[in-house]
Amino acid sequence: MNIHEYQAKALLKSFGAPVAEGVAIFSADEAEAAAKSLPGPLYVVKSQIHAGGRGKGKFKELGPDAKGGVRLAFSVEEAKAHAKEMLGNTLVTAQTGEAGKQVNRLYIEDGADIDRELYLSLLVDRSVGQVAFVVSTEGGMDIEAVAHDTPEKIVTVAINPETGVTADNLATLTAALKLEGEAKADAEKLFPILYKAFVEKDMSLLEINPLIVMKNGRMRVLDAKVSFDGNALFRHDDIRALRDETEEDAKEIEASKWDLAYVALDGNIGCMVNGAGLAMATMDIIKLYGKEPANFCDVGGGAGKEKVAAAFKIITADPKVEGILVNIFGGIMKCDVIAEGVVAAVQEVGLKVPLVVRLEGTNVELGKKILNESGLAITAADDLDDAAKKIVAAVNG
Ligand code: GDP
Ligand code: MG
Repeated sequence: MNIHEYQAKALLKSFGAPVAEGVAIFSADEAEAAAKSLPGPLYVVKSQIHAGGRGKGKFKELGPDAKGGVRLAFSVEEAKAHAKEMLGNTLVTAQTGEAGKQVNRLYIEDGADIDRELYLSLLVDRSVGQVAFVVSTEGGMDIEAVAHDTPEKIVTVAINPETGVTADNLATLTAALKLEGEAKADAEKLFPILYKAFVEKDMSLLEINPLIVMKNGRMRVLDAKVSFDGNALFRHDDIRALRDETEEDAKEIEASKWDLAYVALDGNIGCMVNGAGLAMATMDIIKLYGKEPANFCDVGGGAGKEKVAAAFKIITADPKVEGILVNIFGGIMKCDVIAEGVVAAVQEVGLKVPLVVRLEGTNVELGKKILNESGLAITAADDLDDAAKKIVAAVNG
């Protein structure tokens, strides 16, 4: 689950991180009071969407010459004018895709005088099984480009969970960021705080780009992107309350209600599978035969008929889907339950695209019988290869 920048900053502030004062607003009427409550004279008006690259982003409605999604303002009046222009419009950034995202919230922040922009993130480094800091002196810009062009400018420091952030770790990190004086002291205080927040709140990513050194020599968190581990949300009521469903794919929200693992992709073959490994294999083989998956919906191990039907409906609701491949290995999940769910869903919502079903495992004969006797136009497949060929052929017409 992702949250907005202003929510991430409030969370980090509660752990003691240095962030600017700021006010989130939902309508332009609130802009004046928000700006007036800040010290000034520099204000920053920031679009709150779940995507980065806002500064360089462009508003669809405003044309190519208008300013981007993060704007400096030098007076309350100017902050107000920016808010009015930005709210409700669609911001397109390198991360939103062409469709962009509508800006429904702004964050008006006390502006900082920036000396240096650094990069810092915390993530779960699976190669070592530890939480790691990733830092670079090249902050504020596209970190993927830095990683590609000058990988030596990125330093990774994994943290031993038994010790937490050690003095050695801090020395490596502050040296890598070329920090001195007060900024170094700020960093030595800040980094353990970030680590604590990451672990306590079950984050999967905490990215601060940029982390800045201000002209007065102090450090500040200027941008913050936080993602949480969905499997741990059950124990964080405070984090769940920050969810903004308008930022999420409607089908993914419906799927989460049914506890289905649904991921929207860019192709046109819908995939219903059980188990992440089988999902990967199914997507790989679709690609092998020249098509791309539109999504995958993992119904998991113990789904009942209703859940299978819900999964099927979510897949068919996507207008991009030109064909559906159901690929199930019935272990705990029984093939007849899958068949019943598919038939029930098709009877309810109809079937407008080709459907290929490959069932294997527990009660497979019964499952096939249910599909055959349903009278529905379902193509049966014998194995994964056969199934992929058949759905690709059907979609290709
Ligand atoms: P992003 O474009 O979505 O990553 O949004 P950021 O929060 O990182 O802001 C983009 C850029 O705006 C930063 O890299 C800064 O250069 C600039 N910026 C943001 N806040 C301030 C501020 O308080 N003062 C100044 N001078 N620039 C800022
Ligand atoms: Mg940024």
